[in-house]
Amino acid sequence: MDSRRRSTSKATTAHPPPPPHMKMKMGVGVGLHQRHNDKELKASDALPLPLYLTNAVFFTLFFSVVYFLLTRWREKIRNSTPLHVLNLSEIVAIFAFIASFIYLLGFFGIDFVQSILRPSTDLWPNEDEIDDAQNPDEIVLKEDSRKVPCGAGLDCSPPQIVNKEIVSPPSLVPTVLSEEDEEVIKSVVKGSTPSYTLESKLGDCKRAAAIRREALQRLTGKSLTGLPLEGFDYESILGQCCEMPVGYVQIPVGIAGPLLLDGIEYSVPMATTEGTLVASTNRGCKAIHLSGGAASVLLKDGMTRAPVVRFASAQRAAHLKFFLENPNNFENLSMIFNKSSRFARLQNIKCNIAGKNLYMRFTCSTGDAMGMNMISKGVQNVLDYLQDDFSDMEVIGISGNFCSDKKAAAVNWIEGRGKSVVCECVIKGEVVKKVLKTNVAALAELNMLKNLTGSAMAGALGGFNAHASNILSAVYIATGQDPAQNVESSHCITMMEAVNEGQDLHVSVTMPSIEVGTVGGGTQLASQSACLNLLGVKGANRESAGSNARLLATIVAGSVLAGELSLMSALAAGQLVRSHMKYNRSSKDVSKVSS
Ligand code: ADP
Repeated sequence: MDSRRRSTSKATTAHPPPPPHMKMKMGVGVGLHQRHNDKELKASDALPLPLYLTNAVFFTLFFSVVYFLLTRWREKIRNSTPLHVLNLSEIVAIFAFIASFIYLLGFFGIDFVQSILRPSTDLWPNEDEIDDAQNPDEIVLKEDSRKVPCGAGLDCSPPQIVNKEIVSPPSLVPTVLSEEDEEVIKSVVKGSTPSYTLESKLGDCKRAAAIRREALQRLTGKSLTGLPLEGFDYESILGQCCEMPVGYVQIPVGIAGPLLLDGIEYSVPMATTEGTLVASTNRGCKAIHLSGGAASVLLKDGMTRAPVVRFASAQRAAHLKFFLENPNNFENLSMIFNKSSRFARLQNIKCNIAGKNLYMRFTCSTGDAMGMNMISKGVQNVLDYLQDDFSDMEVIGISGNFCSDKKAAAVNWIEGRGKSVVCECVIKGEVVKKVLKTNVAALAELNMLKNLTGSAMAGALGGFNAHASNILSAVYIATGQDPAQNVESSHCITMMEAVNEGQDLHVSVTMPSIEVGTVGGGTQLASQSACLNLLGVKGANRESAGSNARLLATIVAGSVLAGELSLMSALAAGQLVRSHMKYNRSSKDVSKVSS
């Protein structure tokens, strides 16, 4: 508990200083600038007047004082007055001369000298240079080989200590394509080298990505500028997370919290591009915290996979159904199933028949893994075994959609899939008023008419909530879960009821199919792993396999509870449009941004 609290405070205060090269660049010249949050910051922004006006002032000043001093000098020579005898106007003129000279030297001189001494170290190429380039391929190469500053896609952070391991950030050195690479690019463009073979042929995943990217740009004639290549560990995704990479998409991660859940505070990472989402969840967390925290119960933990097999008759299909559901056979079947992994433990097999086709829904615990791979291996073991006694069984598919993965299905809503969690909190009346800016009766009524009746009117399947999938998807992306599983993972019924003689609000979310893991898939990637680490659920739990994933499921439910509370309150108070206008609509002219 303490360590999580400590990590919470670190997360909110840690603010890495800008790297030295950035500080230096910001202090140098007008020609160098840094991009930050889509807004270009230039050194000239510090000037009180626009750049062209400042230049005009200093030019005029410089030439005026030079003219004035030369005139005075000529007069002194004519009158035989010593040159070093100065009156006040001459002293002022000399100061003005020095000041304007220094300004003009700084403006034109330093940039000029730098362009001679360090022609290749500019962070950004001059746009004129790009326009002047003759060959479009050269433009692309030039854009790709430039350094990308922090804020434009790179992790510029120093090595971090995560769980006592030193984790170095991925290399920031831009990939410079050599002549040899150029040959490979041409061969990919021609089609003689398949793009998917680059990793195995080159033995260097980053180089493979750079070459594939360049070939893609030439083939499509479209620039990928803006999609970063540098700063990502391409080895870590090979054979596991993504094939044929050409870069990576950046999604900002915001923090909501602290979420006080079962007596522990969590800082919840949310990867989203939807304005108001983090702020709103954060407000819900505040309301929960001020009311003493939320409590959760994990009701079930079992991943499912349902193969479909076919027989010549419905009778034979029914035979197998009875065999699989006979308690006397369970021990033997589970022994065969469990051989797939030391973490896979068969819980039950539920069978449904459609004519002569049989759907067997296997449920098993999978430790800290979300478990799809693990359960598929176990199911395959059982199918192989059954083939001996049911040789007329034809396996149609290891997944027959009765599982049901990444599709809205009543079986998940009723039976559960992954982790089934209920999470509740009593929000004090004064917190409803002061933090949520509404009242208990309005919230309870809105919940009944919107989340229950409204969803029933819409024929919802598991959608008896305001926006569970918003919060869940953001936490899923931040923590490396499979975002496509948000379909059934977001199934949720939100209940709100006035309690304590109408003073306070009892709110709960019941989520039967939260599919999460803390090992496997995207969870081992650096960014996602850091977010899991922030929650204290990174990797496998060594003392009790599965407890990290189970804890993560309860945190997801707790975060959904916070999100539900806040959005429902905004709706009840009529604030929704106002807050979206504030957080979700930047004043930027979008028409000027798109190319
Ligand atoms: P999934 O089944 O979710 O697709 P993977 O198969 O990619 O996940 O990852 C699970 C792997 O992690 C298995 O090989 C398993 O042996 C290993 N593993 C290590 N520790 C654990 C743990 N505590 N719980 C589950 N799996 C674990």
